[in-house]
Amino acid sequence: MKSISRHCPRCKQYAALELHDQTSLNCPRCSARWGRVATLKEIFDSCPVCQCRQFYISKDFNQLLGCLVMLVGIALVPFTYGLSLPVFALFDWLLARRVESLINCYKCGSEFRGFKEETNRFKPFLHHVGLKYDKYR
Ligand SMILES: [Zn+2]
Ligand SMILES: [Zn+2]
Repeated sequence: MKSISRHCPRCKQYAALELHDQTSLNCPRCSARWGRVATLKEIFDSCPVCQCRQFYISKDFNQLLGCLVMLVGIALVPFTYGLSLPVFALFDWLLARRVESLINCYKCGSEFRGFKEETNRFKPFLHHVGLKYDKYR
């Protein structure tokens, strides 16, 4: 599933929307208009919300958090089990598999999930590029 998530500028709530071709993006809570998607194929040519052309990738921290909770659970397993090494190897594997990259808009901070084939096009956050957009946040 492809989706966009952001903090709505009107109701200040964090909300997610499913993305399809030819969709109007409206906040699911307060129905403020966010923007419009023409085609998903061209969604990263310019952000459907703010028309920004620069994006960066980051790890999906919601998923990362889930993994950290799991790690704490694992850490609580008594050491006498002697399982820590294989368990941590397993954790690593799960982390690599479960935590996907998401694509973020530099200007409006929208997060795009489910665009696996597109993530190669973008680089992680670059500080000097981020500075340019600081005033919009
Ligand atoms: Zn809203
Ligand atoms: Zn944007």
